[in-house]
Amino acid sequence: MRLVLVGPPGAGKGTQAQFIASHLSIPKISTGDIFRANVSGGTPLGKLAKEYMDRGDLVPDEVTVAMVRDRLSEDDAQEGFLLDGFPRNVPQAEVLKKMLAEFGTALDLVLELVVDDDEVVRRLAGRRTCRSCGKVWHVLFDPPAEPGVCDACGGELFQRDDDREETIRHRLEVYQEQTAPLVAFYADEGILVGVDATGPVEEVTQRAMAVLR
Ligand code: ADP
Ligand code: ADP
Ligand code: ADP
Repeated sequence: MRLVLVGPPGAGKGTQAQFIASHLSIPKISTGDIFRANVSGGTPLGKLAKEYMDRGDLVPDEVTVAMVRDRLSEDDAQEGFLLDGFPRNVPQAEVLKKMLAEFGTALDLVLELVVDDDEVVRRLAGRRTCRSCGKVWHVLFDPPAEPGVCDACGGELFQRDDDREETIRHRLEVYQEQTAPLVAFYADEGILVGVDATGPVEEVTQRAMAVLR
């Protein structure tokens, strides 16, 4: 199955992508995670992406699209994948469509995680990420047993630079201007399904899986 998850920053895309991808035995491909891995690894790609990410702006399309093309060409993505954080604007969606057509395939479904702005701000403001394994926690909604320490691997938790209040506001604007139009784009393609993303993580996963069966 070839899937895309869309939704505002903080909707729970990364959290759900992990469970959905593991239920379906397909790789989760998160452009945000790939960029962050490159930033912390100090690669040329990371150096380029960092200034955009710190501001909450989108990394330029040429860069992002080349990275996704490489990733989708890897062996593990040939039978299916779950894209999290890509595409993020209509031009990226158009390139993705062409790219998949070149590979002789197409997207099956786009899941839109639907949550209101207040909930998004609550989720982003309390998000903590593990420096070692990348797992995402929340100080109130999904706290680790010991504050600041990842239950999964013992790594140190940190708050992403772009999860500060100023940047959160800007990222929500960028979402409304550039990413929200994808909802109409994929509705036109007839492959968009909305999923209520409020409530406990497991319930959201169940709603998403119900759509996929
Ligand atoms: P969130 O968890 O808030 O949805 P991500 O982890 O997906 O955020 O993305 C973090 C940052 O990485 C974005 O603000 C942007 O700078 C960059 N980024 C991620 N995906 C893309 C993309 N498809 N196109 C351009 N920039 C991207
Ligand atoms: P690792 O040691 O796990 O490969 P990296 O920091 O090299 O860590 O990369 C993390 C992720 O980013 C990997 O999934 C890798 O495929 C991806 N990645 C790194 N650089 C690029 C690139 N230029 N194009 C596409 N994917 C990349
Ligand atoms: P996105 O990838 O869309 O930016 P994340 O998956 O990183 O979103 O989730 C943002 C924050 O909200 C994280 O701290 C996560 O633990 C928390 N979160 C995710 N899903 C839920 C949920 N259903 N209820 C409460 N908090 C959630």
